[in-house]
Amino acid sequence: MNELLISIVIPAYNEGENIDLVHEALQEEFRHLPYSYQVIFIDDGSKDDTLQRLKNRARHAKEVKYISFSRNFGKEPALIAGLQHAEGEAVIIMDADLQHPPSLIPDLLNGYFEGFQQVVAKRNRNGESKFRSMLSKLYYKGVNSLAQVNLSDGEGDFRLLGRQAVQAILALSEGNRFSKGLFSWIGFRKKIVHFDNVQRENGDSHWSLKQLLEYGIEGIVSFNQRPLRFVFYAGLAIMGFSMVYILIMFIMILFRGVDVPGYFTTISSILFLGGIQLMSLGIIGEYVGRIYMETKKRPHYLIEESNVEEDVYEKIEQ
Ligand code: UDP
Ligand code: MG
Repeated sequence: MNELLISIVIPAYNEGENIDLVHEALQEEFRHLPYSYQVIFIDDGSKDDTLQRLKNRARHAKEVKYISFSRNFGKEPALIAGLQHAEGEAVIIMDADLQHPPSLIPDLLNGYFEGFQQVVAKRNRNGESKFRSMLSKLYYKGVNSLAQVNLSDGEGDFRLLGRQAVQAILALSEGNRFSKGLFSWIGFRKKIVHFDNVQRENGDSHWSLKQLLEYGIEGIVSFNQRPLRFVFYAGLAIMGFSMVYILIMFIMILFRGVDVPGYFTTISSILFLGGIQLMSLGIIGEYVGRIYMETKKRPHYLIEESNVEEDVYEKIEQ
C-alpha cells in the first residue's frame, strides 16, 4: 500500500438509498488502486436514514468518515466541511447519487500525477431534457459575458483537487459561496476528463427551477460588481436620451407653443424610469444583502455528530 492518501468528499442530502451503493462502488474501485483512501460523507441534515446508514458503514469500514450537520445547510457548506476535514494529499469531490461514476477516479488520479492541481470531470448532456440543457447553455453564456470568471458547461463539482488547490479554496473565507466560480477563480493547472452523463439512480434531483434561477443570480452577483456598472450605464443612456428629448420638445414649444396633450409620453417615461429604478435598487440590494450576511461572520455550518477529528484542518494548516 502506497503512503499516499486520497480523500473522497461526498455531500449527501436524503441519499439513504445511495450511501451503500456509492461506498461499495468506491471500495471496488480502490481495490485495484495502490493508494489508501478515506471517504468523507457530509450528511447535510437529511431527513431520511442517511445518517444511520453512514454510521453503519463506518462501523464496518474504517475509511468511512461522516460529518452530520445540525440541519440542511446546502451543498456548498457541505463541500467546505468536507474539504476542511479531508486529510488526503489529493481530494476528490463527488455527488452521492452515482451521477459521478467512481470508475473515473483512476483518470482523475492520472491527471493529478501528471502534475495538475485541478482535474475536472466534464460531462456531456446526454439524456437530459432539451429544455434544461438549453437553459444551462443560456445560463453559461449569460454568466460568462457578465462575470469575470469563466465557467464552462458540464464542468460540475466532480473533480480532483490537489492539496495546493484545496488550501486555496479554504483560504477564501466568504460565507456566500459559489463553488463553480471559486474553482475557476483559484486557477492552477487544470486538466479535463470527459464522461457520459448518467441519470440519477435513486431519489430526485434536489434542484427546483426556482433554485436554479437563484443559483443563476448567485453566479452573476457573487463574482463582481458588473451589474452595478450596468445600471450606471443604463442610467447614463436614459439620461442622454431624455436630454435629447427635452431639447427637441423645448424647441418645438418655442416655435409651436405649448402642446397640452402629453399623457402618453408622461406615463411611459414614469413607468419606464420607475422600472429601471426598481431594478437598480434590487441590484444594489443584492450587494447590500451580501455585505450584511458577510459581516455577521457566521460559521458555514454546524456539526451535530461526526467521527472525524475536529482539528484536522488546523493540523494541515500548520
Ligand atoms: N446535496 C446536499 N445538500 C443539499 C442538496 C444536495 O448535500 O441541500 C447533495 C446531494 O445529496 C448530492 C449532491 O449534493 O450528493 C448533488 O445534488 P443533486 O443530485 O440534487 O443535484 P444535481 O446532480 O441535480 O445537480
Ligand atoms: Mg445529482
